[in-house]
Amino acid sequence: MRRFREEIISELKELKNRNLLRKMEVLNSGDFPYIIINNKKLINFSSNNYLSLNGHSYIKVKMSEAEERWGTSASASRLISGNLQIFEEAEEKLARFKGKESALIFNSGYQANVSIISTLMKDGDAIFSDELNHASIIDGCRLSKARVYIYRHNDINHLEDLLKKSDDKKKLIVTDGVFSMDGDTAKLPEIVYLSERYETAVIVDDAHSTGVLGEKGRGTEEHFKLKKENVMVLGTGGKALGVTGAFFSCPKYIRDFLINKCRGFIYSTAQPPSVPAGLMASLELVDKESFRRERLKELSEYFYEKLKTKGFAGGTNPSHITPLIVGESEKALYLERLLREKGVFARAIRYPTVPEGTARIRFSITAEHTKEDIDRVINIIEKGWKS
Ligand SMILES: *Cc1c(COP(=O)(O)O)cnc(C)c1O
Repeated sequence: MRRFREEIISELKELKNRNLLRKMEVLNSGDFPYIIINNKKLINFSSNNYLSLNGHSYIKVKMSEAEERWGTSASASRLISGNLQIFEEAEEKLARFKGKESALIFNSGYQANVSIISTLMKDGDAIFSDELNHASIIDGCRLSKARVYIYRHNDINHLEDLLKKSDDKKKLIVTDGVFSMDGDTAKLPEIVYLSERYETAVIVDDAHSTGVLGEKGRGTEEHFKLKKENVMVLGTGGKALGVTGAFFSCPKYIRDFLINKCRGFIYSTAQPPSVPAGLMASLELVDKESFRRERLKELSEYFYEKLKTKGFAGGTNPSHITPLIVGESEKALYLERLLREKGVFARAIRYPTVPEGTARIRFSITAEHTKEDIDRVINIIEKGWKS
């Protein structure tokens, strides 16, 4: 064991030396715009609770009702005895929500990407993946044994060059809808155009778009007013929808295939029944309470404009995710500490989550923030920048 221990400890030390060591914070209160850490009240700018639906009374009631009726666990995987009717009901609604033929619930977005991509794509196939795609997509590609072509971020010409080169069997383009650490949106119309030209399937990861993008919160496709057969969409339930889990919206034959082949689906106990209930409740709210989406948009634009006016390099467009890129990890950590001292919780994001040399503070806006909260953040950044 000594060798084992020494190796691990030395890797931890190395992370610390490079300012890359990560630590979890303990929150003494829930995920609302204000959180409490060490008895200190902080405004939370690091939550993906974009629509502020977490804790919504309607979702709570529906989740408790489902728990009463169906129990606290599914007690088995869906293929064994866990396929409670409420999952099928929710999947029908989730499919309709995304305008697709069918949907399949997964336990998390991470699990979904890793297992779906590696199930659909195999030896002899090709995956075209944006260089800034989420870690779960990268891991799914690695596990798949397909050839992986990485294209430069949102670079459609590069993507086309790579598509031209490929004579692989099946082809798949995969992209985040809204990029998780940069907040910009995939160029889906161009990607779809290429996918039709080169007979390629497309997966859009709508983890940060579901509930947020498009007039009715349907996600990236709605945002661009697209509706395509060859586009499959991963939505997640833990971010804007305020619940947990993930759902893959796709043609029915793909759902059939995944039920038969996808190990992440087959070999894992289904979510507790409160989860599909919560997701259905949340979809209703996404429809009924569109003021949340409008408010989020207004605040995102306000933050973006303010940053720009003050001369800071924020994202490339107004978005509920806005990075403030500072470069070195040390600087990002400094700014994080400073914000924290002044009552703002906004996390530094470092390598390997983002490329080396692009450490940043990632601000995420929620519908319950105020313009005063944002002004406060801007003031702190301004002062911190000078020192
Ligand atoms: C958060 C996220 C995931 C993972 O989803 P979880 O449900 O949190 O596991 C996948 N893709 C992207 C782009 C994400 O931001």
